[in-house]
Amino acid sequence: MGMGDEIMATGIAKKIHAETGAKVAFGNPKGKLKRTIYPIIYANNPKIIKNGQELKDTKHVVWSDYCKGHRTYIANIETSKKERRYRWNYDFKAEPGEFFYSNLEKKKMAEKRIKEKYIVVEPHSKMGGAKDNKQWPLDRFQKVVNILSKEIKVFQPHYGKPKLKNTTPVVTNGLRMLSLFMKESAGFICNEGGVHHAASTVGTKGVVLFGGFIPPEITGYDFHTNLFTGGEACGSRYSCKHCKAAMEAIEVDEVVEHMRKIINV
Ligand SMILES: [Zn+2]
Repeated sequence: MGMGDEIMATGIAKKIHAETGAKVAFGNPKGKLKRTIYPIIYANNPKIIKNGQELKDTKHVVWSDYCKGHRTYIANIETSKKERRYRWNYDFKAEPGEFFYSNLEKKKMAEKRIKEKYIVVEPHSKMGGAKDNKQWPLDRFQKVVNILSKEIKVFQPHYGKPKLKNTTPVVTNGLRMLSLFMKESAGFICNEGGVHHAASTVGTKGVVLFGGFIPPEITGYDFHTNLFTGGEACGSRYSCKHCKAAMEAIEVDEVVEHMRKIINV
């Protein structure tokens, strides 16, 4: 569970704020605020209560129980460890989140602006228990890049190793800055995770490799090309043969063709 979850939280706050005008407090609705471990995601966000003082000072507050340890897209939060898998709450649908950039962030990114057309490819997933299940094979990412890099410049965020050949590294200092970099891009390719959530905040189109772990109906965005191949999304907390097979069912050519449609080359 990580930054992608917190970006989804900004989407929840955006929706609640639009409906009620209230600031949103995440945590126990009886008044116990659950602080984020990634405050950078909420920075400058006027729709989210960030600390106890802000909670005290704010008149109009609506609570959401979506918080660390209680991600409401998981239906079996109490028993998932025992069951060795997550069961998904199909009533949950991710809304595109949002970042509120500081002037300094905007300035920094403007200085880095790339003049030519480019795409962003991030082949790595965050480390974690279900990481394997969310990983499209690296050699396939490499093959896609080998083909597309002949047609368009390809950047790989400074997010994980190894770096793919035929890419240019881009150091964006986390998902906030990466979202600004992606905003100017023609499209992106990544595994389901933080990067596609970051892309959602700026409306950038791209191909998201879902495989078979979690369905796009829950953590996907409709304006992305979401490749889900798993039959029933298993939610396994451990390396899973079904997820591996689901990822392997996604072909290089298929990803290239989807991407060509997005970037018009
Ligand atoms: Zn599986």
